[in-house]
Amino acid sequence: MGDLNKYEYIWLDGYQPEPSMRSKIKVTDEESAPGWSFDGSSTQQAEGGSSDCLLLPVQTYESPVYSDYLVMCEVQSADHTTHPSNTRAAAADVVTDEWWFGFEQEYFFTNPDGSPLGWEKGEPRPQGDYYCGVGADNVSGREISEAHLDACLAAGIHLTGTNAEVALGQWEYQCFGKGIKAADDLWVSRYLLYKIAEEFGVGVNIHPKPKSGDWNGSGMHTNFSNEEMRTNGSEELFSAMCDKLGEVHAEGIAAYGSDNDQRLTGLHETQSIEKFSYGISDRGASIRIPIANVENNWKNGYLEDRRPASNADPYKIIAHIVGTLTK
Ligand code: MG
Repeated sequence: MGDLNKYEYIWLDGYQPEPSMRSKIKVTDEESAPGWSFDGSSTQQAEGGSSDCLLLPVQTYESPVYSDYLVMCEVQSADHTTHPSNTRAAAADVVTDEWWFGFEQEYFFTNPDGSPLGWEKGEPRPQGDYYCGVGADNVSGREISEAHLDACLAAGIHLTGTNAEVALGQWEYQCFGKGIKAADDLWVSRYLLYKIAEEFGVGVNIHPKPKSGDWNGSGMHTNFSNEEMRTNGSEELFSAMCDKLGEVHAEGIAAYGSDNDQRLTGLHETQSIEKFSYGISDRGASIRIPIANVENNWKNGYLEDRRPASNADPYKIIAHIVGTLTK
């Protein structure tokens, strides 16, 4: 027997409104991951009578976990056409590598009963000490967050940072990438988060408002730029881009994750889901124009779309932004 490789195939299932992640391992002596298939009737992607769906490998990572490689896949129907659940294909059609993205993924770690990590004795004291906090009474889950950071870096996924968030048990990491790979990286970083937390007996909740009341929700602020914004921008260029995105605000919200109305209330540094606004340095706006753009004389610039929810599909986000701005 030749050298065998363990390929860990990852794909998105057919659940609505957001897909869940699935994976399984193939052991083979092949030097790259071959196409494969799965039972789509168990993932809401096919009927039982004709249940084969196909896995098309699209991005391969050195695996920092159990297997040798992580293989992000698109799902195809049995006849090799794009499956209706496959949101990546449409994004890949419009997003070129000149588009750079920085996703700020927020989430909660959870106990097996679904409560946030650190909330075992009921609601903790109010928010205030937890953001970027230190000490066992101020943070919960740091060892998992740090293991996740190392795993992503080992896989070649560029996390640019991580921090404890405003609620106890809530964390954020920032994931940077170019073109369609940026969204592949975000999905695989989520996969690693789920899998590493699993080793600690801990769950991950990416719902935008897991705890009602005066507790922060979770978002996924999406920073983006293209060549012109980075090299030859102007106030007019950035304003025109914001206006264009504002014209299709409802389409954007539809692409930015479910239950986002519970988070975009106009409180907790958000704009109301009903309104669209943008402004320099404005964290209460739908889109923030960073002050650094102004300081850099509108060169080396980017925009921060603050609307996407923590549970949003990054393929849909980048397809909406680039699709709108290149129309
Ligand atoms: Mg944050």
